[in-house]
This record gives sequence, structure tokens and C-alpha cells, in this order.
Amino acid sequence: MKKIPILMYHNIAPAPRSKRLSSLYVHPHSFAWQMRLLSLLGYKGLAIHDLVPYLRGEKEGKVVGISFDDGYLDNYTEALPVLQKFGFTASCYLVSGLLGRSNLWAVGQDVQESPLMSTPQVRSWLDAGMSIGSHTHSHAHLCRIEPTLAAREIEESKAFLETSFQCPISDFCYPYGEFDAETIRLVRDAGYSTAVTTQRLRAKVGDDLHTLPRVHVTRRVTPPLFLAKLLTGYEDKHREAHA
Ligand SMILES: [Zn+2]
Repeated sequence: MKKIPILMYHNIAPAPRSKRLSSLYVHPHSFAWQMRLLSLLGYKGLAIHDLVPYLRGEKEGKVVGISFDDGYLDNYTEALPVLQKFGFTASCYLVSGLLGRSNLWAVGQDVQESPLMSTPQVRSWLDAGMSIGSHTHSHAHLCRIEPTLAAREIEESKAFLETSFQCPISDFCYPYGEFDAETIRLVRDAGYSTAVTTQRLRAKVGDDLHTLPRVHVTRRVTPPLFLAKLLTGYEDKHREAHA
């Protein structure tokens, strides 16, 4: 079955020294060569919304999904110009209650504090042809909180983003990669047409659109490893959950 890698990024910035999750930082230079490599190989980078017809088998082509978790400001300042240069689109999963603030959910856990895009910056991201999705309202642990609270996190973030940005929000990303049968049902019932996980695999045609796996891009990825993750079963053999 045809594989369709969905790349998962967080920060596009130099990694902080000795902080937990610093591997999730991809240097702007690395992000630039990764996008250039995709382009040279004839791939088109697409937001998850744009990828759906390929995942459903309705369209064919050399495509790769590009996704950013949490909505960091550096996605706007560093990644956006590169995406535009190559004519790619990408999805950014926003924590709707923290726009213009920082990754407060991780503060106190030896994770670098990092600013998130503000409302005007998200508007510019959208005006540039990029896409946004929901990553809940407060970066909640959906499987640990009461189902009624989980439902609110999932539904209210969608309504909030739709009202703020006057665009449909159809894509979701599970915080901490945590999901179960109940959260999948809540996400589907809320009207999201896709949801991405942190399961390490290349997606493929016919996959369940509410539990899409992704390819992890970390700061240590070299060009040969990047290619192996995209083109071979490398990622499929290194399954693990990630924050
Ligand atoms: Zn997150």
C-alpha cells in the first residue's frame, strides 16, 4: 500500500542546552535543507487538510504531510518563509487558550519555555496559505481527565479557533500523543475529519483518518536518515510514543 509520510515538527530553532525534549528542536538550517530535499526529489509538502484526498486514495502523487505541534512562534518566523519558498503548505496545531503566550503546560518540567504564535501571527500564517488545527484549549491530558472535560477541550478549542479566525477547523492533534477509544469518539463527534498521533509510522492510503501516525523529525536527523525515514521502513521499525 502506498506510504504517505506525515512529518512531525515542534520548534524550528537552535536546541536549548540540556533541557528535556530538546531533541524536538530542529535547527532552521536543517528545516531548510529538509524542505529543499523534498522539493528536489519531486515531493510536494502539504497541510493535513490538503493530504486527505491522497490518504483516501482519491488522488495520487508524490506528497508528504507537514505538521507542527503546539504553534510555536518560530514556526511563523523560521518555517513559514521556507515553506513559501518551495510552494508547500503545512498544518500548525494550536493550543487555543494560549495564543500569544508560551508552552505553559510544560513549565516546571525542565522544558525550555518558548513563545507561541499570537492571534495576528496566526492570521498571517493563514493568509500565507497555511492551515491550522486544534491541539485542545489547554494542552490537556485527554485520557486522564473526566470525559466531560475532555469533550470541552476538544469542542471549545474548535469553536474558539473558528470564531477567532473565521475558518473551518477540521484537523486535530492529540496532546502528548494520548488517545483511547473514548477520545477518538469525542474528536469524531466534535466534527473533526482528521486527527494525528505521535505513533511512529508512515501513513498509508486507507488509514483511519482519526489515528494518523507520523514520522518524527528530531534535531539529530541527518540527510541520509531523513531519506531513510521518508523512503524506507526505518520509521515503521522504530515505533514509540513521544511527548
Ligand atoms: Zn503538544
